[in-house]
Amino acid sequence: MLNQEPNREPPDSVKRHLRQEAGFGCCICGIPIYDYHHIIEFGKKKHHNPDDMMLLCPFHHRLASAYALSVSVQREAKKNPYNIRQGYAEGVLYTPEKVIIINMGQNFFVGENTGLYIEDYPLVSVKLDNEGRILLSVNLYDNADNLLAIIEDNEWISGDPMAWDIEFGINKLTIREKSRTISLSIDASSKPVELKGHLWYKGHHFDVSKDQLSFGPTHVSFVGMVYYNAYINAKPSIQSMQMQPVPPFGRSFIGAGLDNIDEWYDKTIVEYKAHKKEFFFKTLKENIEKRRRLPPPFIQL
Ligand SMILES: [Zn+2]
Repeated sequence: MLNQEPNREPPDSVKRHLRQEAGFGCCICGIPIYDYHHIIEFGKKKHHNPDDMMLLCPFHHRLASAYALSVSVQREAKKNPYNIRQGYAEGVLYTPEKVIIINMGQNFFVGENTGLYIEDYPLVSVKLDNEGRILLSVNLYDNADNLLAIIEDNEWISGDPMAWDIEFGINKLTIREKSRTISLSIDASSKPVELKGHLWYKGHHFDVSKDQLSFGPTHVSFVGMVYYNAYINAKPSIQSMQMQPVPPFGRSFIGAGLDNIDEWYDKTIVEYKAHKKEFFFKTLKENIEKRRRLPPPFIQL
């Protein structure tokens, strides 16, 4: 007879049940990086019974495995998880990239303050921090205008009511509004950073799939475009779709026809860095010029 012993990895349905029950974080401290802990040890009984499992962060998991957290403390935390008590889940996304390029439905948004807007309201926007990492901001609503989540400069917080499912792993975040509907998925480990999902605002929405970006019930579609220092602003109130340049960075363009994404990506990074340097020196020169034009400081001897 075949050995029917369960795999160490719990089934997806058990994992999701445990995530929902725990409010998408460690039952003790709420951190959204977690393991699926067996309260009744897997070594003693081969099981994936959700009643005898819980979400714990690596630190608390280690304590539990070292018997430094009693079973009654674990059970208590499972019954009354941290995130359920506080009413939301939160975390930080880590992006390794030093150049802003976001892939949304095979459209590439390059540069600071690019993104997607509806009626001048930013749904997705990006900028760089002092260390040159991408900071992503997203306002995530559902089709009934309920706020599902806010990501501000990579820090995310789930809205109220809590999403149906949140999967988080240091540089990946997936938020589902209900079964099979991905409201938002960000993969910051891919090159470039990839964002997919349904971005709603006041009943209008951008649908960002793997292959295309489209807007509204008529699915105005965008594929293979490059928005360099420019953003898309959909204005259904005046039946208009605007591509707007981002002013502070000098040069903007919108292009089409990408054949080789890898080649383009490498080229863009070089160009972006050169452009940024050029922009930096231009600003520096202007500031020096300005300073020169100032009257010399009055020194009283
Ligand atoms: Zn913890």
